[in-house]
Amino acid sequence: MLTFFVNLVFFLLCFFAFTTIILRLLLWSGHTKRELVSISDQPIQTEPVIATLIIAHPDDECMFFTPTINAFLSRGIKVYVICLSSGNYYGKGEIRKRELILSCNTLGIPASRVYIEDSPKLQDGSEWNHSDGVIAIRKAFRSFDILPDFILTFDSFGVSGHKNHKSTYLAIQELISQQREMEEKLIRVFKLCSVGIIRKHIAILDLWFALIERLFDRVDLLIVGKWENSLQAMRQHKSQLVWFRWLYILFARYTMINTFKEL
Ligand SMILES: [Zn+2]
Repeated sequence: MLTFFVNLVFFLLCFFAFTTIILRLLLWSGHTKRELVSISDQPIQTEPVIATLIIAHPDDECMFFTPTINAFLSRGIKVYVICLSSGNYYGKGEIRKRELILSCNTLGIPASRVYIEDSPKLQDGSEWNHSDGVIAIRKAFRSFDILPDFILTFDSFGVSGHKNHKSTYLAIQELISQQREMEEKLIRVFKLCSVGIIRKHIAILDLWFALIERLFDRVDLLIVGKWENSLQAMRQHKSQLVWFRWLYILFARYTMINTFKEL
């Protein structure tokens, strides 16, 4: 009887893994492109569509957002990156700034489209005031001379629950409410959905759950990407490549699946 159950579990796991791989191959480009059509059909089609990724630390871009960056760039959307801190928690801020530029280059974003804030008020691991985050974001827009069509960022939990990730989201909420008050052009904001700890670490198998969420409109955007692209970008963050980061890269769903809700 025990052998029967062991065989059954093994069979189900193999079936689950096999069908997931087939799904991934089917959805790799087609589904991603279809998803992006809805957000790139802006009224201003004569101008290039601009998306700004706003993160808290160097390496957030490739640990969590690589599939989205790849998908946006492949559709001709201009992607800018704003990083609200230099990641100086262990005194490696200058190294980490350079690593972020290298990682973005690997992903296809030139250094001229990367802005790294290094304010004493927005240090890695410290408490951030939302208004300081808004000031930094507005400063970055001015330095790029852009007003983006989209902002991509963390949601209220910030994937890992890190307080700087949460503060990044709160700063963007504050920015949007300021825009409403001042009757400025509103930027559409897409929040990267945080998932539970098990879903977070089952790699491509999470595609099943993500698809079901998309089917029932629990998420607005589902993007599937190549794991290798996350790996290549993460390798540029040499100062961060400790053993548990390798484990994360191996098992994380965010290196190949991103789901977003619109704010
Ligand atoms: Zn982070």
